[in-house]
Amino acid sequence: MDARHHGIGMTSQRTRARMVERLREQGITDEMVLAVMNTIPRHLFVEEALASRAYEDVSLPINFGQTISSPWIVARMTELLRGSHSLNKVLEIGTGCGYQTAVLAKLAKEVYSLERIGPLLTRTRIRLRELRITNISLKHADGLLGLPEMGPFDAIIMTAVTTQIPELLLEQLTVGGRMVYPKGISKQFLCVIEHTPQGFIETILDEVKFVPILSGVVNK
Ligand code: SAH
Repeated sequence: MDARHHGIGMTSQRTRARMVERLREQGITDEMVLAVMNTIPRHLFVEEALASRAYEDVSLPINFGQTISSPWIVARMTELLRGSHSLNKVLEIGTGCGYQTAVLAKLAKEVYSLERIGPLLTRTRIRLRELRITNISLKHADGLLGLPEMGPFDAIIMTAVTTQIPELLLEQLTVGGRMVYPKGISKQFLCVIEHTPQGFIETILDEVKFVPILSGVVNK
């Protein structure tokens, strides 16, 4: 591993460990999630000019008008998705810079991730390959359609906000599976839907702020 990977000062392991301590103080309790976030070099997922801010509890720009979600959001969504169970096959909608994808890859058997912006995905593909994360499959596609040919999934995570429950995605969720996503119009909230034998149960949780989910793909 090179020096950039290890980081120094504001990108060092110590800074990362402090981020994890803060997450714990902010109520994240899933130790598996915290342990994984303690190992992934988050500073490599943003532009070099922003690397020194990568461990602050903020979202940051990642080009193409998109943002990397804050550490707390990533931790919270991942802990909700796990619900203290191990993850098998996960579908992510909105790959972005791939940080959430990397976190999921360390906790699940396989991760499928869909991104609508082609050039953003190209960079992310290179980044994740350099980090030798291999149990993932990235696809340039409209995530609102899901990935029926690879489903069903025991967990689905959407990292862009929707105004209504994405029905097509629910069809790709196993019984016992859960989906985590932000929903709202003027105010947005994290939601969890559980697919129980009796049907779908939605729980509305924390207030959040995400970029919108858009349909169709962008090639450049
Ligand atoms: N988890 C990512 C979040 C990026 S922001 C990260 O932390 O980097 C949300 C992402 O969702 C953007 O990259 C955006 O292009 C993507 N997105 C929005 N609508 C989409 C859709 N219909 N299908 C796939 N990706 C979508």
